[in-house]
Amino acid sequence: MLLDYHVHAIAHGEYQYSREWIRQFIETARSHKLREIGFTEHDEYIAEIDYRLLENLRREYDDIKIKIGLEVDYWEERENQIRQLVAGYPYDYIIGSIHYLDGWAFDHPDHRDGFDHLDIDQVCQRYFQVLSQMVDSGLFTVVAHFDLIKKWGHRPVGHSLNYYCHEVLNKIKKSDMCVEINSAGLRKPVGELYPGQEILKLMASMKIPVTLASDAHHPSEVGEGVREAAQAAWAAGYREIASLNRGKRVMLPLLL
Ligand SMILES: [Zn+2]
Ligand SMILES: [Zn+2]
Repeated sequence: MLLDYHVHAIAHGEYQYSREWIRQFIETARSHKLREIGFTEHDEYIAEIDYRLLENLRREYDDIKIKIGLEVDYWEERENQIRQLVAGYPYDYIIGSIHYLDGWAFDHPDHRDGFDHLDIDQVCQRYFQVLSQMVDSGLFTVVAHFDLIKKWGHRPVGHSLNYYCHEVLNKIKKSDMCVEINSAGLRKPVGELYPGQEILKLMASMKIPVTLASDAHHPSEVGEGVREAAQAAWAAGYREIASLNRGKRVMLPLLL
C-alpha cells in the first residue's frame, strides 16, 4: 500500500483551512489510491491548523486514513520551545526538519548563493551534525528530507554524502525513528529523491523504517512522486513501510 505522510494545506501561508480546501487534498490522495494522507503543516502556521475539521473529515472517510502531524524546524536553541509545541496536541507523528544552518536558510531560493562562499564539505559536515543533534533531542518521530543539503545540486568533494551520514543513521536506528522518502527533490534542481538511492540502500541494510512523502504544498501535488519513492524503497530492499498512529508504528506491506 501507498501513503503520503507530508502534506501542507497552508503551504507557506498562502492558503487557509476550509472544508472544501482540505477535501481537495484528500480527493487527490484517493485518486492516487493512497491509503493514508498525513497533514503536516510547518510549525510556523500551527495557530492556523483547524484540528476539529481534520478530525471530522477523518470520521467521514472510511477508505482513506487521515493523519495529523506537524513539520517542525529544528535548531538546537529551539528545543524547549519545540517540546512545548508538540505537547499541545496528540499528533500521530512529528517530522523534524533542518531548513536552517546557524541561521542560514540554505534551501531557500533567496539564500542559495550562500553556498558560493562556503566549503561544501564543511557545509555537509555541519548539516549532518545538526541533524544528529535533532535525532538526539528525542523530540521527533520522522526525519524529513534526509539529505536536503543537496537540493541545489551541490555535492561534497572530499567524501561521498554517505560518508557524512553514517553517524546520524546509527543514531536514528538506536532511537527507533523513521526516515521519510521525500519526492520533492525530484521537482528541484538536484532531481533526486531525499534520500538518494545509495543512502536508501544503507538504511535498508540497517532496517531503518521509512514513510513516503510528497511534501505537497498544493492539492495537485498530493501523491506526486510517491510511487517513485515506493519503487526506490523496493529497489533498496524494503518490503514494508511504516504507518504511524499517535506516535506508535505499525509496519504495512509495501505494495507497488
Ligand atoms: Zn521541509
Ligand atoms: Zn514540508
